Amino acid sequence: MIPELKVPFLKESDIEHAAAELLRRYVKWKGAAVRPPINIDNIIEGYFGLDLVFIDLPDFLGIPDVLGATFLKEKRVFIDESLDLEGKEGRLAFTLAHEGGHWQLHRPLIEADQVTAPLFSKGEIKEQPAIVCRTSQKKAPAEWQADKFAACLLMPAADVRATVRALCGDQLPTWERIEERRKNRELDERLRDLATEVMERGGFSNVSNEAMRYRLLDLKLVVDASNPQRSLL
Ligand SMILES: [Zn+2]
Repeated sequence: MIPELKVPFLKESDIEHAAAELLRRYVKWKGAAVRPPINIDNIIEGYFGLDLVFIDLPDFLGIPDVLGATFLKEKRVFIDESLDLEGKEGRLAFTLAHEGGHWQLHRPLIEADQVTAPLFSKGEIKEQPAIVCRTSQKKAPAEWQADKFAACLLMPAADVRATVRALCGDQLPTWERIEERRKNRELDERLRDLATEVMERGGFSNVSNEAMRYRLLDLKLVVDASNPQRSLL
């Protein structure tokens, strides 16, 4: 059994900063500006120097519903091969960015843990991935953090804001019942259309419409009509 990864609480802004910092370092490493679509393969394989392996992961690990797994010592990321198909580009990029989130946010914690608990570095554990990402554990704090990190990395706040500004000017899209619909998890069609426009205009070609909708809401780039703060900061 692989225990759930215990991680300290992080605020959304902490994760936003961590993703922005990674992008800054990646730009420096690459020596060129980085614009969407963010080349997550190159961040994982080039910048982090990780091996990427596509495999039937549930079969390989004997764990159902696993999409990604990271072996720290071996510097190897396994991704379920079902994501490496046409039409799955958004999910694949998001899963890669999610694993990148574990690498950036959680690897130092696990490594520090292994120093104080040397049992972990011996024998049986060595063959197992340190991080296993299952769809059934989406709500675990470490998984939530890695998802959030993935969204921040693939849809950098500055790029999303600039794109919304180019499309909408200084007046943010302001609609009735946005908050209510969000809480009820109802699909807002205006929001879906705006997400499509932002993706097209901003070059966010490796994210799903759903991921962009959440990003627009999280960045408060669509405003509930009851909210008085409607202009872009
Ligand atoms: Zn994960």
